[in-house]
Amino acid sequence: MRIVIVGAGVVGLLSAVECVSAGHQVVLVDQAGIPWSGSTSFDQQRVIRALHLDDPAATAAAVRAHHQWLRLQRLLGTRIYEPVGALHVLPAEDLARAERMLTGAGSGAHLFGPLSLAATYPQVRFPDGATAVLEDLAGVLLADRILIACAGWLRAAPDAELLPHRAAVAVDADDAAVHLADGEVLRPDAVLLAAGAWSRRLLPAHLADELVLCRQSMVLCAVPERDTAVWSATPPISTFGTSNGGWLVPPVAGTSLKLSAASACRVVTEVGGTDTPHYWRDHLVEQFVPLVRGLDAGWVTGGRDAYYLMRRSTGGPMSVMLGDRVVSYAACGGGAFKFAPLIARSLVQQVSNEVPVR
Ligand SMILES: Cc1cc2nc3c(=O)[nH]c(=O)nc-3n(C[C@H](O)[C@H](O)[C@H](O)COP(=O)(O)OP(=O)(O)OC[C@H]3O[C@@H](n4cnc5c(N)ncnc54)[C@H](O)[C@@H]3O)c2cc1C
Repeated sequence: MRIVIVGAGVVGLLSAVECVSAGHQVVLVDQAGIPWSGSTSFDQQRVIRALHLDDPAATAAAVRAHHQWLRLQRLLGTRIYEPVGALHVLPAEDLARAERMLTGAGSGAHLFGPLSLAATYPQVRFPDGATAVLEDLAGVLLADRILIACAGWLRAAPDAELLPHRAAVAVDADDAAVHLADGEVLRPDAVLLAAGAWSRRLLPAHLADELVLCRQSMVLCAVPERDTAVWSATPPISTFGTSNGGWLVPPVAGTSLKLSAASACRVVTEVGGTDTPHYWRDHLVEQFVPLVRGLDAGWVTGGRDAYYLMRRSTGGPMSVMLGDRVVSYAACGGGAFKFAPLIARSLVQQVSNEVPVR
């Protein structure tokens, strides 16, 4: 089967790898480079964590995704995943439930009371009385290295063709045709749209209207040299239990310490640049000074803004069949990177009529 994929972020690239692995021919089209530093997926790190306290199915799926990332790492033959675990600050009354969910999904879980938490991670100032769970089968995905490795793998695959700098301007769902900006029309057997935050342009209006665009700022820091070892062994912290929704990604494998918070996310109308405005850098530093020991503006080396869609009704992804040979996956929210191996498999199976999408 010949499949055209529009969009070479993590979803498109992993879907292309999946197509080739399943014996299909694939053409991967992107409006920019493959990969492109302006895509949402192109960043130093993304976090994979399993714990979804109210969602056992998502917890189990994330553990499966962990194993798929390790499999992909073997296929690509390069280091793309630092499985350093993930730490979640939770109210003490939720710890036993979190532990049950994680162990039930096949992950180890380690509980911390306030004293052991402070003693284990002295570089972090947790709120008074904070308790936490550390999960094992989790860590930091080296996002940009993943995209580069997948693109390289595809370039070497005889059944894959990459078409960078070729924007799709319309998709005809009835006959699975992709119209490119330069006038060429691609007519494969099936089409997979993975256009990320730009998905609204290619979707029918009633679907596009259900998607809200958000922009989030992140601050990148260099930790003082004397603290490098301790920070490199720190797991990502998904929540500090603070009202600003702060989270942190450690500087593993030569990456930066990354700080962000739900309070640095805002609704916007169009995808813009990836530079972080000073206002949002200052906001984030202010949020983290009480949480990271020794942090000051001198640590900041840069910022990065990224965009994601939010499905108005559910907050979850919008995965839709358009006709019977075109599938669109608009990643919504902040978890599609970690699930990308599972998403890719499911999309390719759906578009090649193997099994219904999950
Ligand atoms: C601040 C932030 C933090 C996040 N943290 C995490 C995390 O820790 N863990 C996690 O699992 N997820 C996280 N996410 C979510 C995750 O990064 C995204 O959901 C995921 O990267 C989206 O991948 P994608 O392939 O769908 O889109 P993208 O990576 O944006 O790729 C879309 C591609 O489509 C191309 N394209 C668009 N329109 C066209 C067109 N018309 N023609 C041709 N090409 C086109 C673009 O050029 C782009 O290359 C985070 C998101 C944000 C914003």
